[in-house]
Parts: sequence; structure tokens; C-alpha cells
Amino acid sequence: MTQPTASHFVNGAYLEDGQGAAIDSIFPATGAPVARVHSATQAVIEAALAAADAAQPAWAALTGTERGRILRRAADLIRQRNRELSILETMDTGKPLQETLVADATSGADALEYFGGIAASLGGEHLQLGADFVYTKREPLGVCVGIGAWNYPTQIACWKAAPALACGNTMVFKPSETTPLCALKLAEILHEAGAPPGVFNVVQGAGAVGAALIGDDRVAKVSLTGSVPTGRKVYGAAAAGLKHATLELGGKSPMIVFDDADLEDAVSGAILGNFYSTGQICSNGTRVFVHKRIKAAFLERLTARLAKAKIGDPLDETVSFGPMVSEAQLNIVLGYIASGIEEGARLITGGKRLDRPGYFLAPTVFAEVTDEMTIAREEIFGPVLSVLDFEDEAEVIARANATPYGLSAGVFTNDLRRGHRVIARLEAGTCWINSYNLTPVEAPFGGVKHSGIGRENGKAAIEHYSQLKTVYVGMGPVDAPF
Ligand code: NDP
Repeated sequence: MTQPTASHFVNGAYLEDGQGAAIDSIFPATGAPVARVHSATQAVIEAALAAADAAQPAWAALTGTERGRILRRAADLIRQRNRELSILETMDTGKPLQETLVADATSGADALEYFGGIAASLGGEHLQLGADFVYTKREPLGVCVGIGAWNYPTQIACWKAAPALACGNTMVFKPSETTPLCALKLAEILHEAGAPPGVFNVVQGAGAVGAALIGDDRVAKVSLTGSVPTGRKVYGAAAAGLKHATLELGGKSPMIVFDDADLEDAVSGAILGNFYSTGQICSNGTRVFVHKRIKAAFLERLTARLAKAKIGDPLDETVSFGPMVSEAQLNIVLGYIASGIEEGARLITGGKRLDRPGYFLAPTVFAEVTDEMTIAREEIFGPVLSVLDFEDEAEVIARANATPYGLSAGVFTNDLRRGHRVIARLEAGTCWINSYNLTPVEAPFGGVKHSGIGRENGKAAIEHYSQLKTVYVGMGPVDAPF
């Protein structure tokens, strides 16, 4: 695995400034440091913003075909280096290589290919008004700031960079300090693919570095993937500068399993929606409402299937369940597990840290969870599934919606009408019927209520990385009152 060679990537090259506070990248399976980077100093932040600002006009002046070709070349390079990039993602996050080989760099490549493909056909419209006419142009916003969470460092960087760059913006990206490495490889690859210096820059650091970037007058937009509390701060900072903002925030999503559902599919959905990436996924369906008539069968199949999870070294490709990203996150989740037990939920399986090095937690299932319990209300962001009982469709819809979050929702049923009827009433931005957690680049992704503002992916993302200019063209004499 070739690691990044310095902390930051600015103006087309790696950049180091040892004055910045040290940030260690820890391999979560062992707790051992694998790399050390330094937080961006004011000088690095200034260099990155100046580079992005200087590069933007020329980048926007290229044709969409030219920009798109560079993005598609980067997608090809990512696919060629998928294994190397996946190993880095696994070292950074602890997610099993079995997953990262198919879900991270590959998803990032999809985004670069998709937005590279549509870059050439971005445009406005023409409106004929008698002899006069109006045309609209789709223009870039300028310098965009991307700020990432730690659960999908490669994917998040690509999902932000690809539409931003396709539209003619430039970007300064700040990864989570927990997973600093992967975004640097994206910068390296974009540069190799032909992106001019300054088009995509990466700077390291914690929240203060993100805040400094958003507060700069040269920045037109921020796109954050993170928690609701951070979302509030970022949205506030963007509002102060009247800047555009896309917020991909947390969730407490419902997954509703009706008694006519295919039981194995519903169990598969619950596993994908609670234990993939060791449960560290924003869209997870962590409140699994199961119809009382099938609850016993559901729990039996779920526990039998969980026993087949292979927990261990995430670099071993046969391993299907890895450690949590950090000791801090593990402790947060253990705190939620203790509260579940204390508040009377029935622990079906798991609930304990595993006796081995690294931050391993057994996949955990609670049953008899009720709506007011802390584990049913707050985002846990770990491998903890809560089963809640229900009997009536209207009742379960009301309970599913009784949350400030609205990122995702899922319904398992073989009744076609019920599937669509229930989904239509669920307050969530990204929904699945008889499936869960699939997020292809073609489909817009994002939340409602406190789970977010704006959308990533699909054609919808273009709206959030560009603005319209309206041009009225007068073809006759100008009629003035005096
Ligand atoms: P955080 O909100 O803690 O951090 C997100 C990013 O914001 C980090 O890079 C962080 O820096 C940075 N940050 C923190 N404070 C500020 C600030 N004041 N100004 C600017 N930037 C700031 O989230 P986590 O990294 O812990 O990620 C987990 C959260 O992300 C969960 O709530 C999860 O649901 C959500 N998420 C949402 C997704 C979605 O698409 N909707 C997808 C994935 C995760 P640092 O941490 O380095 O200090």
C-alpha cells in the first residue's frame, strides 16, 4: 500500500507543515498508529484557499467535455488501483476489506464517472418571449469547501468533489481527523488524471480548520457530512456569510417489517441496515419495527444469521465484521448499550467489547425496545439493532415519524399497494421498499427534517453546485416612460 507522502495536498502537490498539531491515523483493528499527519496551520489553509480561488476561473472556462474527461480518467485510475485504495480505506477506518473492495473506492469511481459523463451536457434553457428571448446559463458557485465524516472517507470525498468539479467549481476538502489518509489519494489521482493545480485540495485538521475554511470570504459553498450538532454550527457559519450549504447529517431511521414480508429478505435488510460497516452508517434502519405475529421468527433468523458473521482482522478478506473506528466511538456505543439494559430493553445478543486488541464490539440486538427509550431516540452510530413491536399500519407510521430525524426509511412487505402507501407517508429523504442501504450514484441521496439540507448524487446534485444566470435579450426598441 502506498501511503500519502505528506499531510496536505495543495496546488497540485503534497505539502507539509510540521508546525501543525500531530494527528495519528490509528488502525482500529490493533490500535496501532499507521501514519501521522499534521493539522493545517493558518499558512496551509491560506495556501489551499488561494490555490482553489486562483484555479477556479480557468477550470470553469474549460468545456464540460474537457472537465468530464479528467473526472472519468480519475475514475479509471481509481478502479485500476481499487485494491490498494481499499486497503488504505480499511487501515483508516477498520472496515473489512471484503466491504471496502466493493463499496468505497468503487463508489467514488462511480461518482466521478457519472458526473464526468454529464459535465458536457450541463446547461440552461431558452424561453422565447415574442421577438425578445431569455436564456439561462448554469454557472459554477466558485470555491467550495467539503467536510467529511470518518465512516466513508473515500466515498464522501468523491461524492462531493465529482459534482463540484463537473460544474466548474474548485474545492478544498477537510477529511475527519479520525480518517485523514484516503482523501489525499483522491487528490493525487485527480492530479494525475489532469486536474490543474488548485482544482482539488486537501487540508487536515479538526473542526476549527473546517470552521476557518467556511468563514473565508473566498468560499461560496460548504458541503458537510457529519452529525446534527456539527450541521447546526456549519449551517450557522454558512448563513453568516450568506453561503450555499449542503448538509448530510445523522439519522434514526425506521425499517418496518410487515407480517407478509419475505422473512429472509427482511432479515438481510436488517443486517445490511445495522451491521454493514460495523453499524457506522448514517442511513441505517436502527429502529426495526417488526409485526408482532412474526417477531419470534424474525428474532430467531436474525440471531442465527448473526452467528455466521466472521469477526476479526479486517484485512482478512473472509472477515465480514470489523472493529469500530475508534476507542472513543466504541465507548459512546457501550454507553448506549448500558442505557438500553438499564431502561429495560431485552438484550438478545452481543452487548460487549470483545477481548482482543482493537476496538471490537459484538453485533448487538435488543428486543422489546419502546419508543421512549434512549436507544430508540438517539443516533448510536454503531452495531446496535433495536426491535420494536407493532400491530397496526397507521400506528407504526406515526411512531416511525415521531423523530426529529428524516434521513431514510424502509418497508418490507409483499403487498405492493401497502409498500407504496406506507413509504409515501414516511418522513424521510431516501427510502427503500424490500431493500435497504443501496445508494447508487444515479439516485439522489439526502435527508429531510434534521437529517439534512440538499441532495448528493443524481442530477439533483448539480442544482447544489451551480447557480442559474438569467439573460434577457431585447430585440426591439427600448420602451421607457420618459
Ligand atoms: P462530526 O459531526 O463530529 O464531524 C464531521 C466533520 O465536521 C468532521 O470532519 C469534523 O472535524 C468537522 N467539524 C466538526 N466541527 C466543525 C465545525 N464547527 N465547523 C466545521 N467543521 C466541523 O461527525 P463524525 O465525523 O463523528 O461522523 C458521524 C456523523 O456523521 C453521524 O452523525 C452520521 O450520521 C453522520 N453521517 C451522515 C451521512 C449522510 O450522508 N447523511 C453519512 C455519514 C455520516 P473533526 O471530527 O475532524 O474534528
